[in-house]
Amino acid sequence: VELPADSNKENTRRKVFEAAYSFVMPKTPSNPKLIHGSKELAKELGLTCRDISSDSFLKVFSGTKIYPRTKPYAMAYAGHQFGSWAGQLGDGRAINLFEVEHNNKRWALQLKGAGETPYSRQGDGLAVLRSSIREYLCSEAMFHLGIPTTRALSLMLSGDDVLRDMLYDGNAAYEKGAIVCRVAPTFIRFGNFELFASRQDYKTLKALLDYTIKYFYPELGKPSKKTYISFFREVSNRTLDMIVHWQRVGFVHGVMNTDNMSILGLTIDYGPYGWLEDFDFGWTPNTTDRQNKRYRFGNQPHIGLWNLLQLANALYPLVEEAEPFETILEGYQNNFERKSLDIMRSKLGLESRDAEDKKLISDLEDSLSLSETDMTIFFRQLGSYKRGKPEKGLEIVEAAFYNKNDIKDKIEQQWKVWFKAYDQRLKMEKFTDHKRQLKMNLVNPKYVLRNYMAQLAIDKADEGDYGLINQLFNLLKNPYDEQTENEQWFAKRPEWARHKVGCSM
Ligand code: AMP
Ligand code: MG
Ligand code: MG
Repeated sequence: VELPADSNKENTRRKVFEAAYSFVMPKTPSNPKLIHGSKELAKELGLTCRDISSDSFLKVFSGTKIYPRTKPYAMAYAGHQFGSWAGQLGDGRAINLFEVEHNNKRWALQLKGAGETPYSRQGDGLAVLRSSIREYLCSEAMFHLGIPTTRALSLMLSGDDVLRDMLYDGNAAYEKGAIVCRVAPTFIRFGNFELFASRQDYKTLKALLDYTIKYFYPELGKPSKKTYISFFREVSNRTLDMIVHWQRVGFVHGVMNTDNMSILGLTIDYGPYGWLEDFDFGWTPNTTDRQNKRYRFGNQPHIGLWNLLQLANALYPLVEEAEPFETILEGYQNNFERKSLDIMRSKLGLESRDAEDKKLISDLEDSLSLSETDMTIFFRQLGSYKRGKPEKGLEIVEAAFYNKNDIKDKIEQQWKVWFKAYDQRLKMEKFTDHKRQLKMNLVNPKYVLRNYMAQLAIDKADEGDYGLINQLFNLLKNPYDEQTENEQWFAKRPEWARHKVGCSM
């Protein structure tokens, strides 16, 4: 029987009311092909490695075959985008397949790029290979860095072409379509709550909140106003912790809209993200945000707070008391200062706390900004510093400077002053140079997914060669280790990549 073309009503674009999600069917890709699968994550989910290369894995995680007795769905959410209310958004190109429980952990598996949903608006519901490689590699890299994040199980080619505006020449062109299977305990965002609050649909708002607490914050207890406040405090703490980690490794998310803020404090929605090469608080990888630079590196902690304020506003109708929310939001600011000071101390190998540390750290940040200085290389190299030899300091971190000729006169003087102060400060520490270095190496990664590295993997993949994806994937599993065979990736960004690398959707 042939059904009329418009018979698939589930996926048609629309406003959806009084529902937290809509059932949808993934689009059947014309020629799916597995590019890469994460064996570690498969194991975590209770799959075996053999499963990854099987035909049924290919079918299920490309959206070709729906697992028996499951009903895929797309979630409804709203959000503030770039500081303005955007109304209903929702999973426009993500479809939840099912949930699994393994080792007492609960996981939702979702396909990104598997076709249109009621929330697709003007979009096609698809994803291109370029952005899918970026999400796949980066989310697993973040996991191995110890940063709260959604994960990725598989990267597939769909076999279909996708029309996109090219970033640099402004023309539209076809690109290869791809599908990533993302994994997280849940993909609920701040924006899911904002949607129902904005519609004054407090019944669904409460149902969503109670569901979230029951399954993902069970330790907070039974639904009550007090529990809701504890919930907000916990989300606030987790969000802050996540952002402090970002600042530690120089990760810039690029689109911290409230619809991209996980209710579990996970890094989610890897789009135009980037890694700091040159240490610069003003840097953003997002080419559409270059004017206001709302989501620049140095502004991420503040945006976290702004987003939490929107979440507080959404939850307020269920509590009807502003003060507890305000107290938590004020606490965020103090906690941020404390936590970021502690993280910077650990990056410098300082165990004890000293009142002057704040100045030592801000002087360092000033010095790092004097000339183009590679953040990752600087901190990793600093681990080799030997106590009592401040005059050798600059030599030790020399590899971090993009232009060694910059380190002259005033700049050189300022660095010398800083190393003297650092050396003085180290006198208060009890660890040997070697012990300090080992500890620093646990917080200062040697290998991060530099923007040009992802780009090289993309260029190769475009030619059908997935070797570099596999190589980078393996490299980034151990970002804090010395990997002698991989020394080439512990290097400054090459000159050709200076202004070229960036990414949109
Ligand atoms: P993002 O900026 O990627 O977080 O996306 C913002 C909103 O746009 C979300 O609701 C996405 O689901 C939706 N969206 C982004 N790209 C597409 C696409 N190609 N097709 C449909 N919806 C999309
Ligand atoms: Mg998003
Ligand atoms: Mg600079």
